[in-house]
Parts: sequence; structure tokens; C-alpha cells
Amino acid sequence: MKCPSCGHLDTKVIDSRESADGGSIRRRRECLECGKRFTTYEYVEQVPLMVVKRDGQRQLFDRKKIINGLIKACEKRPIMDKVEEVALEVERAVQKKFDRDVASKEIGEMIMEKLANLDEVAYVRFASVYRQFKDVNQFMKELKVILDKEK
Ligand SMILES: [Zn+2]
Repeated sequence: MKCPSCGHLDTKVIDSRESADGGSIRRRRECLECGKRFTTYEYVEQVPLMVVKRDGQRQLFDRKKIINGLIKACEKRPIMDKVEEVALEVERAVQKKFDRDVASKEIGEMIMEKLANLDEVAYVRFASVYRQFKDVNQFMKELKVILDKEK
């Protein structure tokens, strides 16, 4: 760490203290050249997760957007009270799997996977909006897969 006073690169740490929540470490340092004392802080880097949309636009990851999408898909369905929980699970999974960028497609697939296990109507609703079915046939095909599963 460079001395802010003389620019010398060698310093010694004379005191090191972790913050009460353990989120940072405060270090008291002394310049070996001029004796100037200064403080540095060490934190875990918080890299904001960016969502890359189909058109290449990047947006800050926002759990509220997942919740909004889920609310629409789950309207009048018995899993309405699980919306927040699903959104949180998806957020955790995304953060675990991706470092910096995540394609909106990946998030959509994760949500669909969760909905498919929870409520098929909500799943089809979400998929129809999310996958932007180009025509009715594609949508019917998706529906048929689900209906076949129920047989
Ligand atoms: Zn110095």
C-alpha cells in the first residue's frame, strides 16, 4: 500500500481490526519511510449482477422484476403466496451460478423450471409471455406436453 504522504510502497500494519459485522477489516498502517500513519479498509467486492436482455441491453438484476412476472403468471392460482419465495430462490441460484452477467433467458428458464414443479397453469402463462410464442401452434405444443404429463 502506497504511503499517501511520501508515496513509498513499504508499510507495516500496526493494527488490524474486523468490523462488528465481519464485513470489513480496518488496518492501521505506518509508512516505513516517513513514519506517516494511515488507515485502509478491506471489503468483499460486491459486483452488481447484470442481466443481458435479448437485444443486448444490460440492466441491473432486480428481484422485483421477477416478482412482477410471477405475480402475473400466478394470478388466482394457489401458489400466489409463494411468489416471493420463488423469486428469492431464483435470485440465489443466479448469484451462485453467474459472476457478473446473466442472460435474461437463463433467468426465464430457471423461473419456468420452478413453476413447472409448482403450478402448471402458472407455468404455461409465464412461458407464453416469456418465450413469446410466435404462433398458436407452438403454444399448443407446449400445452400438449403438459396435458400429456397429467394423463
Ligand atoms: Zn511515507
